[in-house]
Amino acid sequence: MSKITVVGSVAFDSIETPFGKVESVLGGSATHFSAAASFFAPVNLVAVVGNDFPKEHIKFLKSRNIDTEGLEIADGNTFAWKGFYEYDLNTAHTLETKLNVFQDFEPKLPERYTNSEIVFLANIDPELQLSVLDQIDKPKLVVLDTMNFWIENKKDRLLRTLQEVDIALMNDSEARELAKTFSLLDAARMIMSWGPETVIIKKGEHGVLMFTENTHFAAPAFPLEEIKDPTGAGDSFAGGFLGYLAKTSDFSEQNQRKAVVYGSVMASFSVEDFGLNRARHLKQKEIEDRYAEFEEITGF
Ligand code: AMP
Repeated sequence: MSKITVVGSVAFDSIETPFGKVESVLGGSATHFSAAASFFAPVNLVAVVGNDFPKEHIKFLKSRNIDTEGLEIADGNTFAWKGFYEYDLNTAHTLETKLNVFQDFEPKLPERYTNSEIVFLANIDPELQLSVLDQIDKPKLVVLDTMNFWIENKKDRLLRTLQEVDIALMNDSEARELAKTFSLLDAARMIMSWGPETVIIKKGEHGVLMFTENTHFAAPAFPLEEIKDPTGAGDSFAGGFLGYLAKTSDFSEQNQRKAVVYGSVMASFSVEDFGLNRARHLKQKEIEDRYAEFEEITGF
């Protein structure tokens, strides 16, 4: 078992999809990641919230094997994101991003986080991602996620952070925007030339592609009857992916393929309900059953 440290957003999300609407629910990239990864391995959380953040949310995180010593409570308001989805649930449209306490955040890692083998730099300012990485002693696996907001506002810093990363994760439109090319294969090669050995491109309901210099793996998304809210699917994917790698401590390409399927399983649960609602009552057995079903639908 390897230790995971994640830095990312802990947020209040207001979300509207064709299937409903929620206001100021617990969200954020680090939250969705931690909720998924903690089914597999313990997670250290690095983030900041404001003094408006309810204690019950912290209680929930603690109850899930998530270490919150690295969750700073600062004077001010918690990060807030507001977005909507049309019938194409693959594209999130941002209405509002209020960085709030994240603007002055200077992460300081608790001593016991600094020997983590796995680091997940979830979607957050690339400068903060790098400052967390600098505080960890020789991690074995560094994985980064990002999004259009940072590609558009902090591309130089993002390219700098990518130099330190083993695996880059992003969705298809972000990979195209970052690499300025339509071809996902070309985009993956371009991103690899900036540092990462592996690039994983998430394509929403169309599944995932994983590229290394010499290999290419494709997994479908799990076909679902009901989807309510895609927010957090990417982070839940990352949580399942890294959670499985942490549990097995085997970072080989073959094992990463299995991890991609666990990632897809966790993403599929996350979209079945708003916010973290599905994760709150998910059972280990449901994860294993869905993994087995995945093997069934992809085997030939
Ligand atoms: P995803 O897994 O890609 O759907 O990520 C969704 C999460 O990202 C939401 O819960 C948001 O709170 C969070 N988020 C949205 N915009 C940003 C941003 N600019 N920086 C950090 N987190 C964000």
